[in-house]
Amino acid sequence: MSGTAASEAHGIYSFGTRAEEQAMIVMKFGGTSVGSPSAIERACSIIQSRADRHPLVVVSAIGDTTDRLVGAAEVGPVAGAEVLMGIRDRTESITRALVSGGAASEMVLFLDQAMAEASDLLRTLDSSSDGASPSAELDALLGIGERISSRLVTLALVHRGLAACNLDSRKLFISEARHGGASPLIEPTGERLRQTVPPIVSEGKVPVIGGFIATGEDGSPTTLGRGGSDYTASLAGAALGAEEVQIWTDVDGVMTADPSLVESARSLPLLSIREASELAYFGGRVLHPSTMLPAIESDIPIRVLNSRHSEAEGTLIVAEPSESETVVKSVVYKENITLIDIYSTRMLMAHGFLAQVFAIFEKHETPVDMVSTSEVSVSMTVDRTESLPDILEDLSEISDAEATPGKAIVCVVGEGIRYTPGIAAKVFNSLEGIRIRMISLGASRVNVGFVIDENDLEVAVRRLHATFFDEPRLRKGQLQ
Ligand code: ASP
Ligand code: MG
Repeated sequence: MSGTAASEAHGIYSFGTRAEEQAMIVMKFGGTSVGSPSAIERACSIIQSRADRHPLVVVSAIGDTTDRLVGAAEVGPVAGAEVLMGIRDRTESITRALVSGGAASEMVLFLDQAMAEASDLLRTLDSSSDGASPSAELDALLGIGERISSRLVTLALVHRGLAACNLDSRKLFISEARHGGASPLIEPTGERLRQTVPPIVSEGKVPVIGGFIATGEDGSPTTLGRGGSDYTASLAGAALGAEEVQIWTDVDGVMTADPSLVESARSLPLLSIREASELAYFGGRVLHPSTMLPAIESDIPIRVLNSRHSEAEGTLIVAEPSESETVVKSVVYKENITLIDIYSTRMLMAHGFLAQVFAIFEKHETPVDMVSTSEVSVSMTVDRTESLPDILEDLSEISDAEATPGKAIVCVVGEGIRYTPGIAAKVFNSLEGIRIRMISLGASRVNVGFVIDENDLEVAVRRLHATFFDEPRLRKGQLQ
């Protein structure tokens, strides 16, 4: 899509033409990029150095705050009080390292109020049957992390002399009234953002919002799902017609593999949106999978950058990148996968069987990731297993079904895969000796994926990375 075509397109995520809009960018900082006083200082200087591009700043909760809040809900109000105390103390010490005087007291007061609210929520959750299952109260509890971090980053920016102001994301982002990960409602959200943000930005102020949180159309607290701050950023970028959405994280952009598994993993300068979507979904560990949707719709580039290494160019994700020489861009994986094998002789020559099978997953609201079928069997993978016992019970009425946990999906991703014969052969050669339980060449043909035992994961990822990234490089070097 060309820039002009995009600005004329009135897709679901964007409204109006860019010409009428205030030129601006969206800068999102993840948990580790606001995880300590020095990280927040770094984030603030990055924001300050780009103030002339009129940023809207989106922040995640500090470090692992959201995980800790989930933990508090799991252990209940008594043990949870200690978890809250831990969050409180850490946040207070970060606050005091960053700001002083009135700003510090204001922040500590806010923190105490937030913690009182959190402990009330823990008590309410405790009185309901399962405190850790999705609910408005749990969403309200988890959202406290972003409310705290956005306020603190605002104060830190003001402390440096920047005219920053904290906006409440709950008043800007409207979602469906679903808990534990709601879909945003694009129109009301876009309207509110466009009403609120551009006037602030044109006054030269820097608005700061918490990612992840929203309000359901029924007025209840919601979230956009774990890792959802990226989504907040791209939704805002699309609604505001931003020039770019920057995702500031703690790695040098999107990598050829998880650097904790593969030492020679390196960052990719350019990716297509389709590649990035596959990577995000299959555990690229950089972007929330939904992040790309608004960007595709509005043709807004996303840049993934390292806040510890801000001069590096990071990874640019665009709709139609220029031709690339590398066929395979990245080797990604997803752990904790459960494989479900379904056998039925009824399936033989019958129609409607698969529809019945999928209806069961639909009924239990469990997404299926990968599917492969033969005449008498279907295999599929799921990563959400809350409803697995019910699913298996329903499946047992129409088939013999068996679930095996402890699997991993490994995926080789790259647009070039569909034009390049022999990729699958190369993949299988590298996996010699490893038991492959299922294979799929996605319809988009941007990836080849397969299911293996979790125990084989490291070896598989390392071998594939060596095949597609290290060996050709070596050979090229040798020829020169
Ligand atoms: N703080 C939320 C989480 O950890 C959202 C985010 O970081 O994107 O899931
Ligand atoms: Mg996060």
